[in-house]
Amino acid sequence: MKKCLDAEPCSIRKPLLNKGVHVVGARCTMPLPPPCVVPSRCIMPLQIFMFLLLGLWISGGNLKAQSQIFQQPLSQRIANYQIKVRLIPEQKALQGEEILTWHNTSPDSIHELYFHLYMNAFRNLKSTFMKESGGRLRHSRFEHGKWGYIEIKNLQLIDGTDLTSAIQYVSPDDNNSDDMTVMKVPLSIPLPPGGKVRLRIEFHVQLPRVFVRAGYCGDFFMVGQWFPKIGVYQNGRWNCHQYHATSEFFADFGVYDVTIEVPKSFVVAASGVLVAVDSTDTTRILHYRSEDVHDFAWAADPLFKIAKEFYKNIEINLYFRPWRKKLVSRYLSAVKNALNYFENWIGPYPYPTLTLVDPPLAASGAGGMEYPTLITVGSPWWMPKGFCLPEMVAIHEFGHQYWYGMVASNEFEEAWLDEGINTYSEIRILGTFYGTRTSVLDLWGIQIGDDELQWTSYMFMPQFDPILRPTWEYLNHRSYGVNAYHKPAMMLLTLENYLGTEAMDQIMRTYFQRWKFKHPTSKDFIQVVNEVSGQKMDWFFEQFFYETGYLDYAVHSISSKRQRTIAKVATSQDSLQVPIKDSTKAVYHSEVILKRNGEFILPVTFEVHFTNGNVIVESWSGRERWVKFEYDEPAKIDYVTIDPQKKLWLDIDFVNNTLIAKKSIKGVNFISLKWLFWIQNLLQFFAFFS
Ligand SMILES: [Zn+2]
Repeated sequence: MKKCLDAEPCSIRKPLLNKGVHVVGARCTMPLPPPCVVPSRCIMPLQIFMFLLLGLWISGGNLKAQSQIFQQPLSQRIANYQIKVRLIPEQKALQGEEILTWHNTSPDSIHELYFHLYMNAFRNLKSTFMKESGGRLRHSRFEHGKWGYIEIKNLQLIDGTDLTSAIQYVSPDDNNSDDMTVMKVPLSIPLPPGGKVRLRIEFHVQLPRVFVRAGYCGDFFMVGQWFPKIGVYQNGRWNCHQYHATSEFFADFGVYDVTIEVPKSFVVAASGVLVAVDSTDTTRILHYRSEDVHDFAWAADPLFKIAKEFYKNIEINLYFRPWRKKLVSRYLSAVKNALNYFENWIGPYPYPTLTLVDPPLAASGAGGMEYPTLITVGSPWWMPKGFCLPEMVAIHEFGHQYWYGMVASNEFEEAWLDEGINTYSEIRILGTFYGTRTSVLDLWGIQIGDDELQWTSYMFMPQFDPILRPTWEYLNHRSYGVNAYHKPAMMLLTLENYLGTEAMDQIMRTYFQRWKFKHPTSKDFIQVVNEVSGQKMDWFFEQFFYETGYLDYAVHSISSKRQRTIAKVATSQDSLQVPIKDSTKAVYHSEVILKRNGEFILPVTFEVHFTNGNVIVESWSGRERWVKFEYDEPAKIDYVTIDPQKKLWLDIDFVNNTLIAKKSIKGVNFISLKWLFWIQNLLQFFAFFS
């Protein structure tokens, strides 16, 4: 269908009651002015019906409407927010009030509440975030003086009991007394198990110049990590980490009811469903509702254009500046491919909307980020078709709707569970729709797949940190990238090759279905792998999670000598006897020495190719540091290749996997490697995704 490229979403133009209130989703019953085109499929899903009912109930100028999206809650709905916020563009600021309803689902009495105040990361150079990042991150540089912060103006129980004076700032991760990204609020009366507390919080946010994820750039505003957000009470304690340079987020599910007031010239993109719009002479007030999510983000820009499409009943809106129109069809096509893939792979996307924001290039620090039902994309507008950066960013960020959005693991403590699994998903989806060998680049005769790209990012720094450690304890941002994204993706590709794609698909489906709308850990993932595969795979994961060893098998040497003696066994470092083929007619005695350079051990196969065309396929457990295989054959060895089908993506050096008796193919591989390195650097320059 045609896209709507006007400044307003076509679905909110038609007033329902002629009282200034507009209702979304009425595309089946209300004719829309051109150029918005009514979809050929005329459907009325439940949520649209609900909005129509809602429209009949709303009176003009009144935004108290509540609209249910899901008939039954999909999650426990522990942390629920009603927020009213006003954007003050000239001050680059927000004025907000939130009513938080928090349920104590633990068996403990709660004496205090913990909140994230993420925006305080940009308050000054003394915050933990700024100390760790040095003001440079994701290829963005913090502009000094363009600070960001959040101030709590008033905090009280809903009955009016004031708690403002009891607020304390705490630093549970590093005792940095200058960090103000976590707030503790003692309760006047303990909250018993099963109880709920309601708080009213007034707050003021000064947005920073876009540096990482959120902020302003001219009249473009990306509003993320912006409101006082309660931590997760888990296992008898508050899990509420400070905002770190190398960490993302963790929160409980709930319902968000958010009213956003902006000057009339602004177009707003937001999480959730647009329930109603009201206007005055100077302002526009938009009312959104999002259910069974754990965050809410929005963007505003007077220059935004909107492209709308549908995937089945899911309404997709992409917000972009006009001169970036060239990327629109690429982003939309990519997310529709991803929606389709995930639906068939592990389960459908349950939300009625998906919002994409394409930030201007000058605000690229806001691009490539995920929020529930809203993602930011990003790419230079001129990116040629054969370079799949726009598709990669869109597919990656959409994948987070599953790995982070629904399967809400702790990004502070086990970042691989969302970033690593999501990168693995990205590789599979890109490979399916854009070709395994061409999913990143198919240009000027050069072809590069996403698996190869991720591998190059991993192989340059494979051994500084174990996967399982708090993200801020990694050596640096590069090591965070390797251990959260690239290495886990290589691990999952290796696991898929070890167990088979069918078993792996069943693992991913089971993991998603069992843990959606919950907080799984690495142990839960391993349990699913063991259960579905019927094998105890702890030996595999223990090397991967807790140790820093890398995997590198090499063909150390090969030799062939004409002789009459017939060798009977192969020997190894541990005097292991390895049976060899019957070779009574041998003329040449050949030896192959394989070596394990790293500490990571996986069984591997290798092929011995002889000059007469014979091929012997062998396997090696990899347990010994080196092993020697001997052959008596009527021909010399031509070459030996370890892991010929390239199943072990964790191997950091594929060049030393092959050794040729006479000529070397190292040159060819070296050139390939140089290309990969170049592409990787180019992508890292343009892509800033989380
Ligand atoms: Zn990511």
